[in-house]
Formats: sequence, C-alpha cells, structure tokens
Amino acid sequence: MATDDPLIATSATAQRTNLLGLTRQQLEAFFEGIGEKRFRAQQVMKWIHHQGIRDFQQMTNLGKALRDRLEAIAEITPPQIESQQDSSDGTRKWAIKVDGGSLVEAVLIPEGDRATLCVSSQVGCSLDCKFCSTGKQGFQRDLTSAEIIGQVWLAIDSYDGWQSGKGRVVTNVVMMGMGEPLLNVDNVVSSMSLMCDDLAYGLSKRKVTLSTSGVVPALDKLADYSDVSLAISLHAPNDTIRNQIVPINKRYPIASLLASAKAYIDAQSDKKRVVTIEYTLLAGVNDQVEHARELSELLDGYPCKINLIPFNDFPNSGFKRPSGNAVSRFWQVLMEAGFIVTVRTTRGDDIDAACGQLVGDVADRTKRSARYRAQYEDDDVEEISLA
Ligand code: SAH
Ligand code: SF4
Repeated sequence: MATDDPLIATSATAQRTNLLGLTRQQLEAFFEGIGEKRFRAQQVMKWIHHQGIRDFQQMTNLGKALRDRLEAIAEITPPQIESQQDSSDGTRKWAIKVDGGSLVEAVLIPEGDRATLCVSSQVGCSLDCKFCSTGKQGFQRDLTSAEIIGQVWLAIDSYDGWQSGKGRVVTNVVMMGMGEPLLNVDNVVSSMSLMCDDLAYGLSKRKVTLSTSGVVPALDKLADYSDVSLAISLHAPNDTIRNQIVPINKRYPIASLLASAKAYIDAQSDKKRVVTIEYTLLAGVNDQVEHARELSELLDGYPCKINLIPFNDFPNSGFKRPSGNAVSRFWQVLMEAGFIVTVRTTRGDDIDAACGQLVGDVADRTKRSARYRAQYEDDDVEEISLA
C-alpha cells in the first residue's frame, strides 16, 4: 500500500499488534499511541467481541483512512481450531492450535439455560500434580491474552453466536483447562477483564472462576487486580497427603493456601462470596471416611462450598476412581457436617472432555457420579473442569 504514514510505511517489517487480547485500557493506549482518540477503542472492541468481526474494512464507523492504517499495523487473530468434537450430551470440545504448533483444549458444556466454557491458560503445566494428565505433559509455555480470550471468541464463532449481541453462547467461564492460571497471571487477568467488560463479553464476575492449585504469593496479590470467583484445588485433608499428590504444597502448605484464599474473598465488596474447594477423589488415597471427617474439621467455619470430583482416569495414571459407594459415603459425611457439597457430573466423556482427560484415551466412561450430584444453592460458580 503506497502511503506517507510512517506507521504504515514501517509495518511491512514490524509485527502487527494483535488487538484481540488487549484490554479496554490497553486498546485505548494503543489508539492514543497512534494519535487517535481513545473512544476508537470502544468502537473496535464492540466489533471484535460483540460482532466477531476481524476485518478492519468491515468496521463501518471508522473512517477509510483509519481502517487502512489499522489493516497495516494491527490484526485480530484468534488461535486456530485444529479439530472439533461434539459429545452426545451436547458438550463440544476444541483442540486449538497456538503459535508454535502446540495444542490446547477448550470445552463448552451446555446445561439448561447456561453454557460453561472451560478455558486453558498454559500449554502444559509445571506443577506436576500426580493425578493430572496436563501435569504429566510438563510445561511448554504460557498462553497470551489473545490466545486465552481467543478461546471464548472461537467458541462463540463456532456457534455463529455473534448476532445475539454479547455472545450468550457462553454464559460462564472457568479457568480450569490446561495450565495453572496463577503462573500466567498477567495474561489471565487481562483476558478475564475482557470476559467481564461490557464492551467485550459482559459476564458477571461471579460467573468467571479462576481455579488454582495454590500459588500463594500470586493469590495474595490477586485481589488487587481481579474480583472473579475463586476455586482452590485442595484434594487432601492434611499436608502429608497433599504433599504427595500436589507437589506445590511443599512450598505453600494448606494453612497458607486457605488463609490466602479467604483474604481474597474478604477483599471483595460482595460479602456473600465463598471459596469453592475442589477435591478430586482418588481411590485409597484421599477418599476414606476418616479423610472426609478430617476435611470437615479442617474447613469448619471456613466460607466455602465443596466440589467433589471423582477421578477421571487416563492411561498410566497410577490412580483409580473410587467406587460409587465410596463417593457417596464421603459426600454424606460432609453433608451431615453442614457443608454445601456437589459431586461433579462427568460431561463429554465420549469425547474425552472431562477433567484430566485431555491426553490419551479414556479408561472409565461411566456416568455414575451423576447420581450423587447435589445442586448448589447458588449456582453461579461453575463446577466443571478438564485439566
Ligand atoms: N491448574 C488449575 C486449574 C486446572 S485443573 C488447578 O489445578 O486448579 C482443574 C481441576 O481439575 C483441578 O481441581 C484439578 O486438580 C482437577 N483435575 C485434574 N486432573 C484430574 C483428573 N484426572 N480427574 C479429576 N480431576 C482432575
Ligand atoms: Fe497443573 Fe492444575 Fe494439573 Fe496441577 S491439576 S498439574 S496445577 S493443571
């Protein structure tokens, strides 16, 4: 393109800025940086996140000169869908190719009038929880903000859901896919800010959930940047067991994790919030009645609800899913102690979309956990994951 604009002239060699992952503030700064008014950011955000438009020439409320300029210096590029699978229960899973060729997964789980998108934050994970297939892969790299919010964009796009205005194809998001969100906190916070921004996806902060296995220093600071719902992956009633299955516990033991999570919710203006405690039940490891009793003592008076996740097996995992009776007994002890307890329904099991099944085949395709599912009194916080 022939032009005297220095920004355009240099762009042939410079990398284009991907606007997809920029927060409102970052996009305003981008426009200011190229000598444009800040309100351009609002116009462009609506095109990208409400309308699903990637082509600057279709952004008809921008002048032709600005459209040409943006075309030269910027882009709107989501990650690529490598493959898509639909489960008989309505769950849809995407393998998503990110720069460098690695694959991550996102899963959309429709349920009644809501649909929860489970989003990945990293390629692989460094924390090596012993029962997690992502952990077994090791860590490759952090996802960028564009790659994280791009999973939401792709999910809506895949259902051709833009006409609904704010993309109601997705009503809830859980950061429970591959990776540890608090080890990629900047990009996760930016993308969650887009999830909640009215100019992007406009989700209530209660309907976006960050799940962490306990990166306590990052959790201690999280309230300064974020007000989404919080889930912590506890999985054990004491440090001895947790040290064996969640190695980061050796650095940040249970007491410090629980205190940090409580400080996070105490810092929120909404005083009714609680921490979701995720507890993956592993046969013979942490699923005995005495473990349930110890857990109820540990969490006595703690502002929480408990989500039990019967282990989802994968090849060479070294763990087993507890029997239905064991799950039931564990659940009952906690219920009788007065906790709000749910047992996570296995979803998308015919396409390996359940927790811990992102790699390899599925050994156990039963749906028996569904029998034990109790409903949350407050159903805003989601209870599905796929790490
Ligand atoms: N890294 C974050 C978020 C992703 S994991 C975290 O650990 O919290 C989402 C949830 O799925 C976590 O609670 C995790 O422990 C659980 N999970 C991982 N593998 C699982 C498996 N094979 N079966 C059941 N739950 C699993
Ligand atoms: Fe990482 Fe979470 Fe898997 Fe642990 S459970 S290895 S933190 S993804």
